[in-house]
Amino acid sequence: MALARTIENEAPVIALRNLTVAYPRYGGEPRTALAGIDLAIDAGEMVGLVGEAGAGKTLLARTIMDAIPGDGRLVCGEMDYRGAPISRIGRDDSPVRPGRDIAMIVSNPRNELNPVLTVGTQITNVIRHHLRLGKAEARERALQMLRAVAIPDPERRLDAWPHELSGGMAQRVVIAIALACNPGLVISDDATSALDVTVQRQVLDLFKALVEDKGVAALLITRDIAVTAHYCDRIVILYDGEVVEDAPRKAFFDRPHHPYSVLLMAAFAHSVSLRRQWTAAPLKTAASPACRFAERCVRRQPRCIAEAPALRDVAPGRRVRCHFPVEAVA
Ligand code: SF4
Repeated sequence: MALARTIENEAPVIALRNLTVAYPRYGGEPRTALAGIDLAIDAGEMVGLVGEAGAGKTLLARTIMDAIPGDGRLVCGEMDYRGAPISRIGRDDSPVRPGRDIAMIVSNPRNELNPVLTVGTQITNVIRHHLRLGKAEARERALQMLRAVAIPDPERRLDAWPHELSGGMAQRVVIAIALACNPGLVISDDATSALDVTVQRQVLDLFKALVEDKGVAALLITRDIAVTAHYCDRIVILYDGEVVEDAPRKAFFDRPHHPYSVLLMAAFAHSVSLRRQWTAAPLKTAASPACRFAERCVRRQPRCIAEAPALRDVAPGRRVRCHFPVEAVA
């Protein structure tokens, strides 16, 4: 159970409301790449954000970090950090700093590390910049962080160069940097996908333990729903820029409610028959359907073409965006 769920009335670390991002289109209406995202994450809670490539997972992470790529624009939406509204993080008047309050880990740790600075210098630079500690204190804290991420021989590794680290060790160093300033939220954007399975598991075990130990809120972005089954408290499914399902882990894996979630589960279970059963015939209509999933949905009906489904509560702590949610998978 998430730490904050045991604490009455505590505000989530991060709460997003109606976050909408659009990209201009030459000679046409802007393309809505994120549509009305509502999402909150508590301290100590790990939320898995799952969706296929292009669903908007990384865009959501970058929107939270106020780093929307390209010519995308935040059309509307609000964001609270620990219960206080923030406009855009990292601005001079914002109390929330990227790297200090919200940290992000990405998939290629070697790109994150500066090849001409030692590991210790890179960690202490971040600590000194954000926490204003002296050189000796920052070095001591860097050492503690290397111990926390279970780097072997941490005293020696402080003076190591990035090229001397294995992939798994480099990812541990990046996690150490991300957590060095006690952020409230850490976003892992497919951070372990480049590692081999054994190392991936070690790094995720470590990440999960640190999240629980430090009471950090974590957003684990992945295309691999199996990862969320092992590590996340809650599963959020993103399809074409919309949250289509949000559920506690056990409830989700016992009974997914959105037809797209069922398809993902079929892939998770390596079930060819389930996948075939839930893959729709092409939609023969000239008009764009109101439901973004309708073209691939076996359960679509005329209402789905005419009326966009809202994300609605179907049980305590459980939301689904579908006019005809799945009750049971045969
Ligand atoms: S609203 Fe209709 S088309 Fe959309 S997911 Fe639900 S059943 Fe399928």
